[in-house]
Amino acid sequence: MNYSQIIDISLPLHPGTIVYPGNPQIEIEEIKSQSSGSVLSKITFGSHTGTHIDSQKHVVTGGKPIDSIALETFVGPCRVRILLKTSNSSRGFETFYDDYVFVSPEASRFLAEKEVALVAIDYLSIKQRGSKDNTPHTHLLEKNIPIVEGVDLSKVEPGEYYLIILPLKFVNIDGAPARAVLLK
Ligand SMILES: [Zn+2]
Repeated sequence: MNYSQIIDISLPLHPGTIVYPGNPQIEIEEIKSQSSGSVLSKITFGSHTGTHIDSQKHVVTGGKPIDSIALETFVGPCRVRILLKTSNSSRGFETFYDDYVFVSPEASRFLAEKEVALVAIDYLSIKQRGSKDNTPHTHLLEKNIPIVEGVDLSKVEPGEYYLIILPLKFVNIDGAPARAVLLK
């Protein structure tokens, strides 16, 4: 494959990373081995931290977990995987904003009907903050279309790219953080 640029669209992960209200904050504790002096870290975080992928299990009882999704879904041209760049990206990810741009129930139904491979949004949730209507999640996830939340598209111009986003291989859970890049 030919490409000249790798654009990192992942959010940095550190104890100050913004999380969706009510989700666990990232905790990192450095541990130094008494005998060898080498350093490792104990890391605590929620499954929907930073740039992450929601699987069906997030909202559908008995739904498919993150590790059951074929990796082909997460690698490929962005024309069949929809990345939504909104004003969220230009506002940045230093502070949590309640009035972030979200995907409406009608728009998520439309995307689900089009059977896109994947939908990504540049904030920590695809649905409106505080809304009881969870159909922006369920329209897509019921059709097994994974949702990527928390991509930073501030450095990305509209156009065609090749997406690679690989969720950590946690077994049988509802979602997982991922490193996401666009190749151009
Ligand atoms: Zn999520």
